[in-house]
Amino acid sequence: MEFIDLKKQYELFKNEIDVKINEVLNGSHFIMGPEVEEFEKKLAEYVGVKHAVSCGSGTDALQLIFMAYGIGKGDAIFCPDMTFIASVEPACLLGAKPIFCDIDYKTYNISPEFLELSINEVLKKGVYKPKAIVAVDFLGNPADYELLNEIAEKYNLLLIEDAAQGMGASYKGKKCGSFGNIAATSFFPTKPLGCYGDGGAVFTNDDGMEILLKSLRVHGKGKNKYDNIRIGINSRLDTLQAAILLVKLAHLEDEINLRQKIAGYYDSELKDYLQIPYIEEDCIASYAQYSVLAENTKERDLLRDELKKEGIPTILYYPTPMQKLPVFSKEDYLPCEGKNTDLYCEKSFAIPFSPYLEREQQEKIVRVIQRTAKRR
Ligand SMILES: *Cc1c(COP(=O)(O)O)cnc(C)c1O
Repeated sequence: MEFIDLKKQYELFKNEIDVKINEVLNGSHFIMGPEVEEFEKKLAEYVGVKHAVSCGSGTDALQLIFMAYGIGKGDAIFCPDMTFIASVEPACLLGAKPIFCDIDYKTYNISPEFLELSINEVLKKGVYKPKAIVAVDFLGNPADYELLNEIAEKYNLLLIEDAAQGMGASYKGKKCGSFGNIAATSFFPTKPLGCYGDGGAVFTNDDGMEILLKSLRVHGKGKNKYDNIRIGINSRLDTLQAAILLVKLAHLEDEINLRQKIAGYYDSELKDYLQIPYIEEDCIASYAQYSVLAENTKERDLLRDELKKEGIPTILYYPTPMQKLPVFSKEDYLPCEGKNTDLYCEKSFAIPFSPYLEREQQEKIVRVIQRTAKRR
């Protein structure tokens, strides 16, 4: 069994995708071909923002954002203790200080309460200047933007949405990618909207920001590529990837609906055995991953072993809190309070999930868990 079945999706869309790829091959506009602009337009429309600026990866999208806002030395960037390092890594590259905040035990997203504690602690110490919050739609579950907006406003912080796992998800009727001052996403193949290589995008409603981002992604271009007016990077979405994404975007909404059905089945079958994902009312998750919590590490590992024996893969998203990663654990300044991230890492594991996971496969997974886990 595949953890995320990309082959099945390709088989389903093969005709459409192959036609699009051939159009690009025949047109030979491999960099910034017409498909890139078309995709950006359709993506912005789908998310409900004015501009989508595509780029080379989700990590680059975040880097472009940090560069555009001039984030650097002395700045404190707040992000959840449970995320992928790319949420904050580009800010570190620019010299900023990551401040990791504990997660909410139910949603696994950044806890607004612990975020505010961390901001106050940084303010009190006075070494770093609170600058931005990176909110992550962790595993495709939208962060609590109402509360996060309030905190960002109260402390005059930039709110950045890392929607790498949240494409197709929504929060109170608005699509992920449209929250905060600016948002980033990734088209890594296994993300809810994935291409066949690396890709990413930035979302903004600000016309000036769109121009700045488009300059930064092409070596700080001015009027053209050889009129360089600032230091930028080289980060563009390949035309081939844009062509593939055009096909996939058209099917995204259907896939999000399929994801709700599978999650609904898992929820009802597993809720008496494990802690299932908690999605706020008025929210739709994209279920980039379906992660559950066992009673403790021992039960979690036993479940993973039993599933493995049946040929069912499981993955830990993610095994280690950010502040305990080797790269950060020696830092002198990690005022992360709370222990929810630790508990999450001790108990969680993700089971196979993709829009085309068959009911038979779902049943097999559920059966192994039901006969192995303790009924609660
Ligand atoms: C995947 C991911 C990224 C980075 O995206 P890439 O396209 O792999 O560079 C950033 N943040 C989160 C939360 C992610 O899951």
